[in-house]
Amino acid sequence: MASALLEWFDTNGRRYPFRETSDPYRILVSEMLLRQTTSRQVSAVYHPFFDSYSTINTLAHADGSEVLKIIKPLGIHNRAEGLVMMARQVLYSHQGEVPGTMDGLMALRGVGRYVASCVLSFGYGRWYPMVDSNIQRVLSRAIHGGDRPPSPKWAWSEYEIIGRDHSSRTLHSAIIDLSHIHCRPKRPLCNGCPLALACAHDRTQ
Ligand code: SF4
Repeated sequence: MASALLEWFDTNGRRYPFRETSDPYRILVSEMLLRQTTSRQVSAVYHPFFDSYSTINTLAHADGSEVLKIIKPLGIHNRAEGLVMMARQVLYSHQGEVPGTMDGLMALRGVGRYVASCVLSFGYGRWYPMVDSNIQRVLSRAIHGGDRPPSPKWAWSEYEIIGRDHSSRTLHSAIIDLSHIHCRPKRPLCNGCPLALACAHDRTQ
């Protein structure tokens, strides 16, 4: 399953600036911004944001209203103050270093298991499963058959089983892109999907 997906990604994968960095700070902020927004939207504010706040230190000393001016197009107005608070936490509790442990990351304001796993995988070179609602939908349809997984933990362990031997960043980006191009929430576009032959989803519905 993973091989067909990665082959497809080679020619169909999308390029975004947050996929090009291995800086834990940039990954942390980008993944926090990507919640409930689109990759394209976050790409549009990526350079303006990091041109203004290139380090955790500059973000920690920022005025939330100035941060908001940059991320306003994302429509997540309440996240500007949260980003500044998170940066202050990193500055004062971790000497300005983004934590490199699951516990340390998940203790940060606004950071859950998914964002923490992205930072550890892309920024610190560890391998962690990463499951958001898009990835959960793809795994659930392709392996289980239904739109929803049999249990909350199921998708995390399936991700680990299919992904362990592959680059965490490439696999993650490939599933995310598949979830937007083919395995869309309402009407999956199964024609041309690289998983079509093996997929368990009932496409007659
Ligand atoms: S074949 Fe259809 S349902 Fe299955 S993974 Fe591809 S797009 Fe999703």
